[in-house]
Amino acid sequence: MDPLEATIGLCATCEFRRTVEAARSTFYMCQRSFTDARFAKYPPIPVIRCPGYKSKADIDPPVD
Ligand code: SF4
Repeated sequence: MDPLEATIGLCATCEFRRTVEAARSTFYMCQRSFTDARFAKYPPIPVIRCPGYKSKADIDPPVD
């Protein structure tokens, strides 16, 4: 398992995650929260189940 996935769960591979780097911490923002109140801006991690999950692999073309 990818180390990020082990730490934050599903958000690691979700297209709606935005990583926010601060001076001493890293935060994982859910961009679904902008338009859907069911989703927390900063969900408690690790996220194990999420009805909004969408794999980044579905939109990112493979790199050669
Ligand atoms: S939709 Fe779910 S899995 Fe995706 S970033 Fe938001 S909380 Fe994480």
